[in-house]
Amino acid sequence: MKLYTFERSYELFEEAKKYVPGGIYGPRSPHFLTFGSYPAFISRGEGARIWDVDGNEYIDYMCSFGTNLLGLRHPKVEEAVRQQQNKGDCFTLPSDLWVPLAKRLVGTIHDMGWCVFAKNGSDVTSYAITVARTATGKKGILVARGSYHGSHFWCQTYGQGVPEEWKSHIHYFEYNDVRDLERVVEACRGDIAGIILTPHRHDVLRDQELPTEAFVQRVNSLATTEGVLVIIDDIRCGFRLDIKGSAHHYGYRADLNCFGKAMANGYPIAVAMGREEYRSAAEQVFFTGTHFFSGVPFAAALSTLDEIESSGAIQRIKELGSLLVQGLRQAAEAQGIQITVSGPPAMPFMTCANDQGFEKNRFFCGEAARRGIFFHPHHNWFVCAALTEADIEKTVDVAEECFKLTRQHFET
Ligand code: PMP
Repeated sequence: MKLYTFERSYELFEEAKKYVPGGIYGPRSPHFLTFGSYPAFISRGEGARIWDVDGNEYIDYMCSFGTNLLGLRHPKVEEAVRQQQNKGDCFTLPSDLWVPLAKRLVGTIHDMGWCVFAKNGSDVTSYAITVARTATGKKGILVARGSYHGSHFWCQTYGQGVPEEWKSHIHYFEYNDVRDLERVVEACRGDIAGIILTPHRHDVLRDQELPTEAFVQRVNSLATTEGVLVIIDDIRCGFRLDIKGSAHHYGYRADLNCFGKAMANGYPIAVAMGREEYRSAAEQVFFTGTHFFSGVPFAAALSTLDEIESSGAIQRIKELGSLLVQGLRQAAEAQGIQITVSGPPAMPFMTCANDQGFEKNRFFCGEAARRGIFFHPHHNWFVCAALTEADIEKTVDVAEECFKLTRQHFET
């Protein structure tokens, strides 16, 4: 097989640097992948596949960082989008899809009585902690160390220019560690508004971890013992594990839920939802954005939710993901590479043994990218319902070759 090259991508990346600081910012920069072994720009996508600006084709296991659940350019979602586009997108007031989508979400997500819409995950996680503070009259927010909740100031984990004071009242504990959670609750007793949590641990650069029963129970009991609101950040897992939400899937008693990414199969919309008793707190929080109200993503979201339910997409991605995980484990074993594949099969992540700096993973993923399989060396992967068994077979074949190369490369 001829290995992919990326001349146009890197030409464009150099050019981008002239106009955009760093060329591409955040985790989409080629510097966060295996520099030189991945493309920098994508020109089109269809189903489970993307094509880069050099014309190289990939089976994409990043699914646009999680927005692609049904497949890119899904015909039903695109038709709903076209219909709304024909009427217009961003109006002076919300479109007439505002109520249908709100009603649909409240009817779908477990125990939620209301919702508010925005664009990005960061908008709604910030909103949710503000509702918790309003509802309790307290300021403290408990956050698991290393969890990502967005790019807003209070939850930034990297980057300059954010005074420490803007992160004050944020208290950290270790995910899944009941004792450490007790420690921080004890230390902040009397001033905790909420705890914000991803449904399971899916931080970058580590194996994923499912929450233990004891951890879920202790988080749930914080509401009754301490009056703390439980906020589930379902931006990344939402609609991949359970149509009623991942809080329901893992047994959390969520007071507030946040969704984004997959809910409109790639169209920009996010939503915060809450229990009925927090409606009045929600009304008191200032929240708006010019594009929060545009109609096209609402059409996409309604159609995406219909399609997820009617097609059985959640079960399908679980099955496809399980095939992938099984295939990777067998291929790695056959080539004498020790790997761990962690997390739910619908959004797995792979690490290699004895790979502190992730050098092996970067090498493996880079070699896979040059052969048309788009994994990520640091961030969990995603499975979409447009994949086929044949795609998984092809992926596993390429993976086996890349495991072999990895062994050879790191043999001393
Ligand atoms: N929370 C989680 C768990 C996320 O994965 C992300 C995005 N990766 C966010 C919040 C922030 O979402 P957005 O990038 O849409 O602002």
